[in-house]
Amino acid sequence: MYIESVILPAMSQSSCTKRFYIYRGDLEHRSAPGNKYHKLKHHMNAAIKQRYQAVATFGGPHSNHVDAFVNKVVELGLLPIVVVRGEVHAQLTPTLQSAASNGAILFPSQRIDYRKGLASDVRNTVDQFYDDVYWVPEGGGGGLGVLGCKDWADTIMSRVTDTDMICVASGTGTTAEGFAACEKVHHLAVFSALKGADQIVVRPIKPHLQTLLEFDECYHGGFGKMSDELLAFLKKMYELNPNLQLDPIYTGKMLYQVDQFVRQGCWEYGNTLFIHSGGLQGWRGMPAYYYPYHE
Ligand SMILES: *Cc1c(COP(=O)(O)O)cnc(C)c1O
Repeated sequence: MYIESVILPAMSQSSCTKRFYIYRGDLEHRSAPGNKYHKLKHHMNAAIKQRYQAVATFGGPHSNHVDAFVNKVVELGLLPIVVVRGEVHAQLTPTLQSAASNGAILFPSQRIDYRKGLASDVRNTVDQFYDDVYWVPEGGGGGLGVLGCKDWADTIMSRVTDTDMICVASGTGTTAEGFAACEKVHHLAVFSALKGADQIVVRPIKPHLQTLLEFDECYHGGFGKMSDELLAFLKKMYELNPNLQLDPIYTGKMLYQVDQFVRQGCWEYGNTLFIHSGGLQGWRGMPAYYYPYHE
């Protein structure tokens, strides 16, 4: 069980008595770190049980989901198929390069069609090429994705006693929904990586969930965008916590936002537990000069 204390830059400023911890999900499951293993778990079991030969999904060209998905499907001896959002350029992104060299079949898509997900034309095309395809929704979502995240939350929370707020980063909201479904989670803060996202966690809110806070990405310009402030924050974090790396899209922005709240004196929770949902491969989609974790 990897729970460590974290030092936020804002803590050095005042007489800060708050405590911050992080569950190091990034250290789990080398080939599918963070939340991705958990989102895929039940999908993979279903594919195997139903004896599918090929497993397909949707994802962006830098997607952590695609990376984990291809690794897991290959480990199971099945064929990974990825419908890539937008066209596939001759010069593949590092994430798609790994996917292709691991044996994944990549299908380009038109963005409008891609958005239709399982109802898209490109899905039909894939189904025509391959007879027997198990489909995992974008990001490993769906009911089985939520269930895997609830299992994850149950495991983590069974060993956590003293916490006033659990913080999770969110994209599709699958992970947040899984945590919201865990009976031991009473106070949950969800940090979306998307600008203008609300209604992230599907309601109705369960009775055990006393507090549900939802924030969108309002500081750095939206999904996948880097800012000077975020970069400076990540460098400072690394100085203060040399054993901890954060990803640029989700966990880095979540901790940045809480750091801001602490600075502003409006984070009222004594013990906070961050969930590190992984995503470090996402740095490969950023210009190299942003990378803060050089020796
Ligand atoms: C994919 C990902 C998320 C988003 O998870 P959802 O279940 O889609 O909300 C959060 N953090 C990291 C690091 C991720 O890679």
